[in-house]
Amino acid sequence: MKNKAVFLNWDVTLILNEKCLEEPSEIIFFDNVFDALMTLQQNGFMLFIVLNQPGISKGKLSSEKGNDIGSVITERFANEGIKLVRIFFCPHSKEDGCLCCKPTPHFLNEAAKEFNIILAGSYFIGSHPDDINNARQADVNVVYILNEIGVKYYHEIYPKPLLKADILDAAKFIINHISKV
Ligand SMILES: [Zn+2]
Repeated sequence: MKNKAVFLNWDVTLILNEKCLEEPSEIIFFDNVFDALMTLQQNGFMLFIVLNQPGISKGKLSSEKGNDIGSVITERFANEGIKLVRIFFCPHSKEDGCLCCKPTPHFLNEAAKEFNIILAGSYFIGSHPDDINNARQADVNVVYILNEIGVKYYHEIYPKPLLKADILDAAKFIINHISKV
């Protein structure tokens, strides 16, 4: 049987921080992130983070520190009983012309192959046009978080995606939607 997944951006989707994190101590999770991810997990979704971390290529963040931040986030979720299957991150900047930087769908296709995921039954919850565009290229359903920061980029997205106010609203929508299919 194939698996289904929810892919998540982290800046401004799971955590409040908009600027590139430099230290794990800077992480501020949105209050309802844990409820949202637990709901998705209980409904059979594998959870992945897909993010661009151009700070590494630009020398603002070491790859060790990038890994530390990822480990802290994974452990924080694990403490709540939430299994983050993998954090996929692109350490390049857009000028590097790599294959893995969102909006390319590279990591979504990798996850599909490695974890036997059906992308058309999966979702991307994001807050930036790159999230929407990488998901659409991989035939993944999209939910856009129209919070204070998501609203800044909303005008760049065509056609308009499904909108939710926050991660918990997005999770509830996904669960209701699948139960009707
Ligand atoms: Zn890359």
